[in-house]
Amino acid sequence: MERTVNVNVGVEDKRMVKANTQGEYVCEQCGFRYETESRARQCENWCREHKSCNLEIIAHGKPPEE
Ligand SMILES: [Zn+2]
Repeated sequence: MERTVNVNVGVEDKRMVKANTQGEYVCEQCGFRYETESRARQCENWCREHKSCNLEIIAHGKPPEE
């Protein structure tokens, strides 16, 4: 029960989705904010690949605020 759990993110996946001070996960590509990291990661992957946003994904997030 005292084993250390190593959360290994894939070696190729160096970009981590960061949570901001409000605990929201931000897509580094488009700046949309999400409640879950998986959603933000989904967005980031899409944005990086397609150089545009997926409306179905950003519908779950909040637009960036400056
Ligand atoms: Zn995005």
